[in-house]
Amino acid sequence: MDMSLIQGTVAGLKAASDIAKGFLELKSIADVQTKVIDLQSAILSAQSSALSANAEQSAMIEKIRALKEEITSIKKWEEEKKRYALVNPWSGFVTYALKKESSNSEPPHLICTKCYEDGRKSILNPKKNTSHALLYCPVCKAEMHTRLVVIHTAKYAHEYSSKTHEEIK
Ligand SMILES: [Zn+2]
Repeated sequence: MDMSLIQGTVAGLKAASDIAKGFLELKSIADVQTKVIDLQSAILSAQSSALSANAEQSAMIEKIRALKEEITSIKKWEEEKKRYALVNPWSGFVTYALKKESSNSEPPHLICTKCYEDGRKSILNPKKNTSHALLYCPVCKAEMHTRLVVIHTAKYAHEYSSKTHEEIK
C-alpha cells in the first residue's frame, strides 16, 4: 500500500477543514466565493487520493488472490506428477507413463513430456501418419514419432521394459 495516498487524503481533508473554519471571518461575497473554490479544490484532491488508495488496495487483493490460486495449482501438480514415471517405450522415445500403484483405477496412459515440464498433464493421443503412427499432444500440439505401424494400447510404467521389442522388426 502506497502510504502517500493515505497521507494525501488526510492532508486534503485537513486543508478543507481549515478553509471551512475561516468562513465565519469572511466579510464579502467575493471572499466567500474564493473560499468556496479553495474548499472544493481541497475536497476534490482528498477524494482523488482516497480513490487512488482504494484502487491500489483492490489491485493488491486481486494480486494476492491470483498468487494463492497459482500456489494451489503448483501444489496440486506436484502431487499429480508423482503418479507418473519416465519410461522409454520405444527406441529413441521417452515419455511419462502412469504408475500402476498410483493409478486409482485409471487406465494406463502416456502423457506429454513438454507439458509435464510446463507443469500440466496432457494425455497423448495416437495419430496415424502415412508411414508410421505417432503420438500427438492436444495441448502443445507436439508430435512424437514412434517408428511403429500401429500404436499398441498404453501400458502402466512398470510394464515398459528397457527392451525395445515393439519396434518394427
Ligand atoms: Zn504437450
